[in-house]
Amino acid sequence: MSVEDLCGTERGYRYGCRCRPCTDAHRQLIAEQKADRLARAAADPSIVPHGTTSGYINWDCRCDPCTDAYSQSRGKRPTKVKPTNRRWTPREAELVMQDVPLQALAEALGRTYNAVLTKRYLQRRGADSSKAVPS
Ligand SMILES: [Zn+2]
Ligand SMILES: [Zn+2]
Repeated sequence: MSVEDLCGTERGYRYGCRCRPCTDAHRQLIAEQKADRLARAAADPSIVPHGTTSGYINWDCRCDPCTDAYSQSRGKRPTKVKPTNRRWTPREAELVMQDVPLQALAEALGRTYNAVLTKRYLQRRGADSSKAVPS
């Protein structure tokens, strides 16, 4: 039996064939396995491995522990910061001008990266133009 005999089936894919019919057969099998898994999870949620990337990817679970595990595996945690129109306090305006990474500052202030970036830019520009006499 050779790869040609298996072509167009999931086994062809497992033998290393990546032609369209083999890939489709493989995809279909994965989809069927996933559907089966999700059906079992719906019947018994306790079988889902919560707090793992597998729970998130293979079981489509979006609970907090699974989402955390998944985002950590991707190297970052989700930041849920919405743009805000909150006025800048003098204290915040001061912080923005300090030599702190913008991303860290944005998180500390609960503002978006862009908001902090813009604020710093505007303040820098304002500060520069207010200097009547260049040194
Ligand atoms: Zn094939
Ligand atoms: Zn979960």
